Parts: sequence; structure tokens; C-alpha cells
Amino acid sequence: MDDAKDLVLVVEDEPQMRRFLRASLGAEGYRVREAWTVADGLREAAAEHPDAILLDLGLPDGDGLDLVRRVREWSSVPVIVLSARGREEEKVAALDAGADDYLPKPFGTKELLARLRVALRHARAGAAPGSPILEAGPLRMDLERREVTVDGRAVRLTPIEWRLLTFLASHAGKVLTHAQILREVWGPNAATQSHYVRVYMAELRKKLEADPSRPRLLLTEPGVGYRLADGPRSAIHR
Ligand code: CA
Repeated sequence: MDDAKDLVLVVEDEPQMRRFLRASLGAEGYRVREAWTVADGLREAAAEHPDAILLDLGLPDGDGLDLVRRVREWSSVPVIVLSARGREEEKVAALDAGADDYLPKPFGTKELLARLRVALRHARAGAAPGSPILEAGPLRMDLERREVTVDGRAVRLTPIEWRLLTFLASHAGKVLTHAQILREVWGPNAATQSHYVRVYMAELRKKLEADPSRPRLLLTEPGVGYRLADGPRSAIHR
């Protein structure tokens, strides 16, 4: 599949930033549409069906998060938030609103393009018929047989560890917030019990990581949540 023809909608009110994004994306062969406001962004998203949206939060007619919530009512298009608001609560709010990723400004072209490729790949994987095998770096999960291996070594998990790892692995590369993990693994009534996540993540690291104190697979996003590394095998493999 050819990422290079993908259409990216940029919703950003700063002209210099739009120019930078247009140049960076255009150089990689992406087609680009631009919007300045929440209202225009929504219109473009509905009319053009972009393959991904890059979204600023501070827009002249409202908050970019409103756009994410509205778009999520009818579309699963990947949304990457680009914002100078670097606070952890802002990242959590963006991810909980349905954004796929969050890139604090300023960022480099390489970082942006890497995040965009990951988001596009996930969108395609999500659209494909479900495979019973999840793979990320050295991790391999067979969902039918309920088997987990790391570098070919079999690992035994408790039912909760299994649910937690399945959720992380099926969103490999993406940051999942504490609230999203709690809701998915423990159910809606556990929303405030973020210590569950810490405890079980520590157990999973003991079982999966070569050095649990320096995890390379189950990564912490401080104050936000966790991300299962999705790099090439060589980046994680020791
Ligand atoms: Ca702005």
C-alpha cells in the first residue's frame, strides 16, 4: 500500500505552522488539505474523508478537542494533536477525547512523519479482518490459542494480565491513558483505581522485560499512561 498518496487534513490557524506542515508532508508525497478553524475542519473532514488529521488545539472559533469529539461520532480517522500545551492533563484530555496521538510543539519533521506513518498503519490494520496473531517487536500473542511468547520464550499470564496485554498490543505504538486502560480491562466502575494499572504493569514487566526496571516494550508515558513499543524488532531485541 502506498502511504504517499494519503490525504492529510491540517487544522491549524498559524500560517507559519501550516507552511511547515504543507512543505514537510508535500515532500513525502502526501496530499494536503488545510483548515483554519474548528468549523472548517469539520466541514473538510466530512467532505474530503482524509486519511489522517493533524490538529492544533487553540483555534480561533473553539477548542480542537471539540473537533475530535464531533469527528469521533462518525469516523475513526486517525487524529494527531499538535499543541504547544505540553501539560500532562492536556495530553490525557486529547487522548480521552479520541485523539490517536499527541505531539507537543515544537517537533521535528522526522518525528511528525514517523507518528503519521504509525497512525496510518494502525488505521489500516484496524480496518483489516481480525487476525488472531498480534505482534510487536519481540512480543507475539496468539489470541485463539491464548499463547504469549517473547523472543520465542513462552510466558504464562493471569487472566487480567492477558486482558491488559491484549489491549496494549492491539494498540501497539499508541499511548493509552490510565482511564482508557481501566475502562477496558477492569470495566467502567474502576475508573479511579489507577493503582491497579501500576501493579499489573509491574507484574507484566517482570514476565516480559529482560530488565523490568528499564522497560523496552511496556513504556511509561509519565502522567499520561502507557504505550507498547511498536518499533522494528531490532530496536527492542537485546
Ligand atoms: Ca493555534
